[in-house]
Formats: sequence, structure tokens, C-alpha cells
Amino acid sequence: FMAPTPEHFPPGPMSVDGHHGRITGVHGDPHVHAVPHPVHHRQLSPEQEKKASQVFTILFSCMVLAQLALVYWKKKHRKSYQQVTCFGLWIIPFFFSAELHFYKLLTCWVLWTCGSAHTMYLATRRPLPDKTPRRVYAFFYYMHKACYGLGSAGYCMIMADFFSIPNIFGLEVLFAYVGGILLFFSLYFGILSRDCAEMCTDRMASSMGYGKKHKMPARGYDPTVCLLCGDALSNNWALMNSSIQSQHVDHAQTTERTIELSCGHSFHDFCIRGWTIVGKKDTCPYCSEKVVLRSMFANPWDTQSLLWANLMDAVRYLVVWNPIIVGMTQLTLWEFGLDKI
Ligand SMILES: [Zn+2]
Ligand SMILES: [Zn+2]
Repeated sequence: FMAPTPEHFPPGPMSVDGHHGRITGVHGDPHVHAVPHPVHHRQLSPEQEKKASQVFTILFSCMVLAQLALVYWKKKHRKSYQQVTCFGLWIIPFFFSAELHFYKLLTCWVLWTCGSAHTMYLATRRPLPDKTPRRVYAFFYYMHKACYGLGSAGYCMIMADFFSIPNIFGLEVLFAYVGGILLFFSLYFGILSRDCAEMCTDRMASSMGYGKKHKMPARGYDPTVCLLCGDALSNNWALMNSSIQSQHVDHAQTTERTIELSCGHSFHDFCIRGWTIVGKKDTCPYCSEKVVLRSMFANPWDTQSLLWANLMDAVRYLVVWNPIIVGMTQLTLWEFGLDKI
């Protein structure tokens, strides 16, 4: 065994062998391989061994500490954790796609940001206009539907590719590529929209709590208009059947469904959904009577399976926290002067 000086060490990717604190070249320089070497695993100088074990210790402790810190943060202050995660989820892919020239992602990102920024602007106005919950709800609802649909389509395309169905049509490459892009994009923007919806929802729920209760009845009761937005209800048929309460009323010529609550007040389907889900309310917006609303309108971005929730957490971790932890570890190594051996 010959203790090599640093210039004898083959360049290329290296792996730290944790058990022995030894560094081994993975893909050696072809030039080095051309010279026959009796031993591949050579001993390092004591100084290098020490450095390598230090690097390993730092890497390991950084990972563990970061993990513990995240768990603790999530447990202690869930809201700020969610906000920071959401911010990271939004901004980090922007830098990546700008750096790596992913113009498709960049375009979608800009479009999504414009739409969401506008929606968030609407949601944070005070006092909150009556039509806002409906708009916010509509934006996130259609976003959610679109992401879900496109993601499913992408998944199907990848699966079809896996079972080599597109071979019949000679579209193999296109299928896997488009499917992968669809799945990733819809997953990413779906999660982003969901987090954003949650933040808008919290904000609007607190806005609606501000003395809204006594404001609405001042408008005067008109059974032909939606009591939330003030626009005409598309059918008055519901009013003739007021004895049948708290049911969904559908009319052949109806452009938008009218919902009548058990208190007898009628609203547009989307208006009352926006009020219930975005505002987190279970009272009639007009008379404040407590009505069963939560069970009627399940939150579309809330009723997801455990698998889906875990998948979203995994994506959040991969997109947000993984780059941050790796970056911080790199910084620590650099700080200790251990980034180069
Ligand atoms: Zn309405
Ligand atoms: Zn009412």
C-alpha cells in the first residue's frame, strides 16, 4: 500500500465510504485506468481520512438536524411552516426553470402567478365585496379540476406507454414525454393552487367575520335575486316550491343552479359554495341562521385520499426542502473549508 499524494488521486465523482471514512473514486479518469494498477482501493493519508470523516459527520448531522427542525417547526407553528413551504414551492422552481431554460414551465408559472396574484388581491380586500368568495372559489375550483383532469390524462399516457399501447400508433416517444410533462405540471400547480386556496380561505374567513352579520339584511329582501351577489336568479321555480326545503333545484333552462337553504333564502350554486367553502361558514349569509352547509358542499381540495395527501407532502419536500437542505450542507462544508479534498 502506497499512501498517495493528492495529485495521484484520480479525479471524477467520489463517494464517501461511511464505514471506513475513506474516499473512493467511482469513475476514474480513463487515463488513470490505462495504467495498470494492482490495487483499486488505496489508502488515504491520515489528513485526508480525517477530512473525509469530518465531511461525512457534517453531511449526516445536517440531514438529521434539518429533518428534526422541520418536524418540530411543523408541529409547533403549522401556519408559518405552511406559508414558508408554499412560498418555497412557488419561487424555487422559478429559479430552476430560469436557470435551466425550461420555458414551458416558466410560461405556465408566469400565467399561474398572474391568475393567483389577482385572486389573492381580491381575497385580501377589506371590506370584502360580496361577489369575491364566489370568484375566489371559482378560480381555485376550476384550477383544481383542470389539474386533476390533466394529471390523470398524463398518468394514463405514461401507463399506456408502459404497456406499449402507443407502439400501435407509432407515437411512443411523444406519449411518454407529453404524459410526463402533464403529470408533473398538474401535480405542481395543483399543490400550489391548493396551498394558495387554503391561505385565501383563511384570510377571507377572518374578513367575513368582521361585522358582516348585520350588514346584509339592510339590502332588503328580494326573492328573485341571489342574496349574495345581487344578480337575478335564473329560475323562480324554486320559490314556488318553498315547502321542499334545502334541496338542489334543477331546471331545464337554468344556466346556473339555484340553491335554497332550509331558512328559505335562495342563492346561486357557486355563490353559496364560495361563501361556505372559502368563508368557512355554516350559516345563511342573509339571516345568519345555522344551516347544514358543510355536508352539502364538500371542499373539493380537502377531500383527497391519504395517498394523494402523502404524495403532495413528498412533492413539497422534494421541491422545497431537499434543495434547501442540500444547499445548506454545501454551505457548511464550504464554511469549514471541506468542500474540496
Ligand atoms: Zn349569486
Ligand atoms: Zn337565511
